[in-house]
Amino acid sequence: MKPLAAQFDGILCDLDGVVYRGSVEVPGAAETLNAIRELGVKCAYVTNNASRTPAEVALQLHQMGIHTNPSEVVTSAQAGAQVLSELVPLGSKIYVVGGNGIDVALRDVGLNPERNPAGCVAVLQGFGPAIEWRHLAEASYLIQDGAVWVATNSDLTFPTEKGIAPGNGSLVQAVAHAVGREPDGLGGKPSPALMTLAITRMDSHKALMVGDRLDTDVAGAHDLGIATLLVLTGVATIEDVWRSEIRAIYLGESINTLNEPYPLCLVENHHAHCEGAQAVFHTGEIRVMASGGTLINRLRAADALKWDLLNSVGIARFASGEIALDLNNN
Ligand SMILES: [Mg+2]
Repeated sequence: MKPLAAQFDGILCDLDGVVYRGSVEVPGAAETLNAIRELGVKCAYVTNNASRTPAEVALQLHQMGIHTNPSEVVTSAQAGAQVLSELVPLGSKIYVVGGNGIDVALRDVGLNPERNPAGCVAVLQGFGPAIEWRHLAEASYLIQDGAVWVATNSDLTFPTEKGIAPGNGSLVQAVAHAVGREPDGLGGKPSPALMTLAITRMDSHKALMVGDRLDTDVAGAHDLGIATLLVLTGVATIEDVWRSEIRAIYLGESINTLNEPYPLCLVENHHAHCEGAQAVFHTGEIRVMASGGTLINRLRAADALKWDLLNSVGIARFASGEIALDLNNN
């Protein structure tokens, strides 16, 4: 059987929570990504992090042993610059809030990044650790005077070694409070700009998005009609999968699922099975059989049953404690 990745001509790969966690590589990620390249399947690394340039991101991936180059990295700064380039004339002066990755992305689309607000007709707001109140204030004044306003991404928080920190979305909201409205455009996931840019660059006609978040990676791909692989090495938990109202087509323990054949999950008469793992719908609840199959296949069977029930009878409720018990037994 062919590995899952071979069913597609391009892989859109999220980074944090998929390829690495902070500065630590997800075990096997480099081998998997290099193997996919050997299959002839293209890869694009899509990240909502706007502060770093594609060259900086590619260097980090290279140091992890992943064969790649900057043209395979697509950032929300690039997507935001692309969105902005469709709203203002070529050569316009753009006031930059955020890191160097934003200046580079603007120049690449023929716009002029400025750190002085005089004469700027638009604001591109992204994250950078050196942002000060006065930058947010200058952006607010420009927007109140009619400047176009695009945000690279709307993530409210992001994890750091010391804990959860305010993300770009929180700083965008600070400006929104001052100007009384939301941005005119958004570059990063879940808006379609970032993934569309990556698909165009790969010239892909059948892409798969690999991500660790249901609200950005899976939701964004779903809106574009792209298949998704949700991995459990980042933000999303098994409980999130149960509660989700958006279906990830494939579920994997990690990115390494890409390089493995994906098992067939069959649902018949309120009974799902997936390579020895079973889930049944009984007395109004989905129950996962504690024995038989691997944990991930039990999850796949239960999820397949959930969506089958939602489509056929409109209900899907998991027995309380069932999944936690299952995890503890594994
Ligand atoms: Mg992620």
